[in-house]
Amino acid sequence: DSRKYTGIVEDCCCDYETVDSLNGAVLHPLLQELVTTPFFRYFKVKLWCDCPFWPDDGMCKLRDCSVCECPENEFPELFKRPMKHSLPSDDLKCQEGKPQSAVDRTLDSKAFRGWIGVDNPWTNDDETENDEMTYVNLQLNPERYTGYSGPSARRIWDAIYSENCPKYASGEICKEKKILYKLISGLHSSISIHIASDYLLDETTNWWGRNLELAYDRVLQYPDRVGNLYFTFLFVLRAVTKATNYLEQAEYDTGNTQEDLKAQSLVRHLLYNPKLQAACPLPFDEAKLWKGQSGPELKQEIQKHFRNISAIMDCVGCEKCRLWGKLQVLGLGTALKILFSVDSQNYPNQPLQLQRNEVIALVNLLNRLSESIKFVEEIVPSVEKTMEKF
Ligand code: FAD
Repeated sequence: DSRKYTGIVEDCCCDYETVDSLNGAVLHPLLQELVTTPFFRYFKVKLWCDCPFWPDDGMCKLRDCSVCECPENEFPELFKRPMKHSLPSDDLKCQEGKPQSAVDRTLDSKAFRGWIGVDNPWTNDDETENDEMTYVNLQLNPERYTGYSGPSARRIWDAIYSENCPKYASGEICKEKKILYKLISGLHSSISIHIASDYLLDETTNWWGRNLELAYDRVLQYPDRVGNLYFTFLFVLRAVTKATNYLEQAEYDTGNTQEDLKAQSLVRHLLYNPKLQAACPLPFDEAKLWKGQSGPELKQEIQKHFRNISAIMDCVGCEKCRLWGKLQVLGLGTALKILFSVDSQNYPNQPLQLQRNEVIALVNLLNRLSESIKFVEEIVPSVEKTMEKF
């Protein structure tokens, strides 16, 4: 076996092999189907944002970089009206490059009565700024290579790492700071893997495919970056399972009864999966954190850093990267909120409350991480053999 990654994922409760087999056999297929359902594929996002740190310099090279918004007619009717209607047919495609689509901004109060707006102390975005938000069909805007690079992209990663989550020195005892770094690094690995797995190999023929060299150069040759990807996956998975009661009862109603029932049933399969419960019942143990005397202070400090990272996403100079950056940071912020901001055991009167968008971000983030793990698991032996030849 030429695998480099074996044993327990650092700071987690499961090993690499278990994560791979569980992901390949159960989680990946489930999540892939779940994110195509109408509830999970429309993400509400503020894409025209003023960067609070630097003027936006839009460094996008490809036309593919821009996000295609949802035309109003593609939207689930129930998102607009409270009456039951079925989804329009799938051949209504999004028109690329079109101006801001007209979206009924009042739909949240009309259609999503079960979903409330509650602040997330870990993130920066204000979900109530409705008139600046738009809906994006995530299925039509996959995260992949966009050509966004150079000083603009570098500046973002540098600001995130140097100011908000510096790499911990080996022997660092503050578990919480380590975790923030590992979550960001794991997300970074996942973004790089997606760039590598869907790369523009030849511009003239518009040939897209896998770029194994890029995957190796940016992620696979660094065991800690791979480890952080697995860590982040387990961390988010734990957040999803911890929120079981909430997610099980949430409203996945978009007006398309068949699809909505499918979403609900897939969520249940995910939450009550016997294979998951048998193989990795506690993917991450959050109970060990914030224990010392300085716990509350430390939490506030780390929360502030994470909110900063969330604000930095407004400075990502490529629209599609910004879309996925915002979604995945919101997903991480939601996982942090579930694991660290709600203590329903000690405070049963303050149960967990999530926004619809948080649930969508959480599940889509888990799916993206699951895709990255599948990619790593599939190609590691072949990459190692290929790279030996260089
Ligand atoms: P970068 O990936 O920019 O890395 C910068 C430095 O960070 C590296 O030199 C290394 O020191 C360190 N580093 C790298 N990986 C890790 C890790 N896993 N853990 C710890 N440290 C690490 N480009 C696209 O084509 N498509 C996208 O969808 C996309 N989304 C993006 C989203 C965000 C939020 C950001 C900030 C950028 C995004 N980019 C995207 C750009 C992409 O991430 C790279 O910045 C770009 O491809 C240039 O890569 P690079 O080789 O300079 O290294």
